[in-house]
Formats: sequence, C-alpha cells, structure tokens
Amino acid sequence: QTFKDYALSEDLQKALDNLGYEIPTEVQQKVLPEALQRKDLVVKSQTGSGKTAAFGIPLCELVDWNENKPQALVLTPTRELAVQVQEDLTHIGRFKRIKVAAVYGKQPFTVQTAELKQRTHIIVGTPGRVLDHIQRGTITLGRISCLVIDEADEMLNMGFIEQVEAIIRALPEKRVTMLFSATLPKDVEGLSLKYMNNPVPIEI
Ligand code: AMP
Repeated sequence: QTFKDYALSEDLQKALDNLGYEIPTEVQQKVLPEALQRKDLVVKSQTGSGKTAAFGIPLCELVDWNENKPQALVLTPTRELAVQVQEDLTHIGRFKRIKVAAVYGKQPFTVQTAELKQRTHIIVGTPGRVLDHIQRGTITLGRISCLVIDEADEMLNMGFIEQVEAIIRALPEKRVTMLFSATLPKDVEGLSLKYMNNPVPIEI
C-alpha cells in the first residue's frame, strides 16, 4: 500500500513525496479512508505511530483554501505538541498553501491575535489559551467543521476537561470529530459518548 492509493490531491501527494512519506503507517492506513469520508473516529495510538499525519493529511485535504475563516481546530495538551503539530501540518499543506496558526499559553495575545487576523485554515492550540481567544472573540468558530482532540488522555490528566468541554460546546454541531489517545480511560470514553457521532473505533 502507498499514499497513491488514496487518490489525494496533487498538492498533498507532492508534499508527502517531499517529506519522504511513501508507505502509510498502520494508523494512517486505518484512519485515512474513514477520515477522508468525514467519519467521527476514536483512535487508540501512541506517539511515534505517525498519528499527526493520520489526522493532518485528511485535515489538509478537506480544507477549502478559498474560505477565509478557520475550518479545523486541533487541541493538544502542551505548547510543545502544539508547535510540533503546527509544523507537521504546515509541511503537509505546503503546496496547497494551508495556513496553520498555533495558540498557547505564555506567549503574548497580541502576537497570536495578529496571526489569527490573517487567513488561517487550521488552528492548533492548548485548551486554556484557545478558550481565552474564543472568549475575547479573536477566534472565529462559525466555519469550523473538523475538530481533532490529540492526546486526549494527557489533556484530561492535566485537568483540562472543563476547558475542552466549553470549547466543544462553542463549536458548530455539524462537524467531524477525531479523538486520539494512547489509553482510553472512562473520562476519555465519556467525552466521545457525549460529543461524538457513532465514532468508528480504531486500535493500533
Ligand atoms: P508522530 O507519531 O505523528 O509523532 O510521527 C512520528 C514520526 O514519523 C514523525 O517524525 C513523522 O515525520 C514520521 N512519519 C509519519 N508518517 C510517516 C510515513 N508514512 N512515512 C515515514 N515517516 C512518517
């Protein structure tokens, strides 16, 4: 199996060729066909499995470049992961010229707000700071049609459940939601039951 099997757009295929991604990893093989059809997914997988590209490829494929407002939101537990995901998605979306903004704590709002004012297709951020931007009106949610909850177990372990739920409740209901987690404890399962639509379970 190769990425050519998914009939991705030329811009994305070229980016994957440039990155040297030829053979999809196991998580990518399982996630891509479902995600490209906009199915909700609960994915049990570890860091290092290629999970970022597993959601990054469909996000970049599904985003409409011409739409001015953000269309996808990725929540991560830490600033480091937010920056890493931003970089990976920027590389994957490079030839489609996808703009990915990262928002996280301990960086001035002014910098992030200026970035968010420009065309942004995908926002990656930590829950506290994303919620702050929502409350300040510096993030527009009306066009968000994809939500990714990355490292959900870590996020809940760090005490972000209330912020995560507040963010989800502020999003349009008509959307696809993908949840990634190394483990699936009760609270993570609760999140999927409460806010997802018959999610397809994927285990690596
Ligand atoms: P992740 O699990 O998302 O942190 O990815 C782990 C590493 O695998 C990253 O350095 C990626 O650049 C790399 N990677 C992801 N998908 C592929 C692929 N299909 N082929 C080769 N390397 C990949």
